[in-house]
Amino acid sequence: MARYRNIVVLTGAGISAESGVATFRDAGGLWEQHRIEDVATPDAFQRDPDLVQGFYNQRRAQLFTVDPNPAHIALGKLEQLLDGTVTVVTQNVDNLHERGGSKNIIHMHGELSKVRCRHCSIVVEWLEDCTQETRCPNCSDAPALRPHIVWFGEMPFDMERIESLLYACDLFVSVGTSGNVYPAAGFVSAVRSTGVAHTIEINLEPSEGASYFAETRHGKAGDLVPALVDELLE
Ligand code: NAD
Ligand code: ZN
Repeated sequence: MARYRNIVVLTGAGISAESGVATFRDAGGLWEQHRIEDVATPDAFQRDPDLVQGFYNQRRAQLFTVDPNPAHIALGKLEQLLDGTVTVVTQNVDNLHERGGSKNIIHMHGELSKVRCRHCSIVVEWLEDCTQETRCPNCSDAPALRPHIVWFGEMPFDMERIESLLYACDLFVSVGTSGNVYPAAGFVSAVRSTGVAHTIEINLEPSEGASYFAETRHGKAGDLVPALVDELLE
C-alpha cells in the first residue's frame, strides 16, 4: 500500500454497531414509538422538552454500558503510530473514539456527553441526566440546558475545518455510514475533486454512495478496520 501522510476517516453509526449501539436502521428508526426525526429536532424540543431530554438521557446512560470495539481501537493506534496526521470526523455522538484512543476527533453531530446552555452558550461535559430543572453551572438560568447535539435542521459543527481537511488529505476512509445523511454523504466527492487522494469505503454492505469510492471493502468494521490499519502501518 502507498504511504499516506494525511488521513481523514469519516465514521458513522456502523462503527459502533459491534459495541452494541444501535444504528438507525437496527433501531427501525424508532424510539418508544417516536420517529427519531421527531425527537431529534428543535421543534420537538420546543414542543415537548421532557420527552427530548428523556431520549438523550437514555442514550447518555447507555454510554456506560458499551465499550470501544477493535475498529475504534485500531483508529486510535493508527493516530498514535502513523508518521503523519490522522483525523477522525465522526457523525456519531457516542464517546467510543475517545475511549478507543483517538485524540484528533471532530464530532460533527455533537456529543452525548456534553450539554449546552441556551442562555450563555457554555458547553460542559455532562454524564448524568439533564432535565428542564437542571441549572446551568455557569449562569444558573433554568431551564436553559439542552443536549449538545446537532438536530435535524441544524448546521453540523466545524464544517469549514472539515472541508479544508478533505481538500488536503491523501487518503479518505469512510466507515459504517449509510451515505444518505448530508453533508457527510458528499465528503467523498469533495475529496475526489482534488484528484490526488485515494478513497476507501468500509461498510457492512455497499452504501448509497459506494460507487463514488475508488475502493470498497464490505464486511464488519471490527474486522476490516484493524486489517486496513495494519496495512497502513506496514
Ligand atoms: P445509519 O444507521 O444510517 O447507517 C449505518 C451504516 O452502517 C449502514 O450502512 C450499515 O450497513 C452499516 N453497518 C452496520 N453495522 C456495521 C458493522 N458492524 N460494520 C460496518 N458497517 C456496519 O448511520 P449513519 O450513516 O451514521 O447516519 C445516521 C445518523 O444518526 C448519523 O448522524 C449518525 O451518527 C446518527 N447515529 C449515531 C449513533 C451513534 O452515535 N453511535 C447511533 C445511531 C445513529
Ligand atoms: Zn448558562
